[in-house]
Amino acid sequence: MDIILSDLHANLHALRVVLRYAKRRAFSRFTILGDLVGYGAQPNRVLDLVRELKPRILVRGNHDKVCAGLEPALAFSGPARSSAEWTHERLSRENQHFLESLPRGPMTVGEDYELAHGSPMDEDAYLLHPRDALTAFECFDGQLCFFGHTHLPGCFELDEEAQQLTWMTVQEGEWFNLRKDCRYLVNPGSVGQPRDRDPRLSFMTFDPAKRRLRLHRLDYDHKGAARAIRQAGLHEHLAERLAYGI
Ligand code: ZN
Repeated sequence: MDIILSDLHANLHALRVVLRYAKRRAFSRFTILGDLVGYGAQPNRVLDLVRELKPRILVRGNHDKVCAGLEPALAFSGPARSSAEWTHERLSRENQHFLESLPRGPMTVGEDYELAHGSPMDEDAYLLHPRDALTAFECFDGQLCFFGHTHLPGCFELDEEAQQLTWMTVQEGEWFNLRKDCRYLVNPGSVGQPRDRDPRLSFMTFDPAKRRLRLHRLDYDHKGAARAIRQAGLHEHLAERLAYGI
């Protein structure tokens, strides 16, 4: 069983709850779809924990690149840019090196699935609209690709025979069985900054043998995470949004 995490965004309070959940169960792999840092106030603590996870599969996100100093923050909003600068200045040498060396997606995990930060077509692209999803399906071969970046949990299901593409929400806590005759682009939602108006952290578990997945939403101390953002002097909006899941 794999645990699929995305968009941790330096939120230590949220990550700790996920790791507590994972500790009680036997997971064979941690798969992380990027954006480990940016926005949140505890980048080093989060990266220290991520580096300890084994075995883990990782691709980088757009915030990881900018926080590592690999790319300028051209497409970033004011609060995102200042949090990236703040993060970059504070990274430990180990974490700076770790962030710099994160691989670019998409990546293939044997025959089980692929993973990408934004889209298998372009690591920085947002997969929101069906037309973008259609193009993305052409960019990988297997049945399933996990993606993040939008912070919105759910999946695109492509029935090639019926020529039907559907965006589906995945019911929390229930097994979602992949249909043999369909292909999927699946987003586990965000651990560190949920944006579907539900402040609870979001992630998925996936059973490669049975080809089924499950969405998990867990409460965490979002007030504590917001307090840390305020204490760090980061933009108020980054703290405030955690309470609303926006
Ligand atoms: Zn993100």
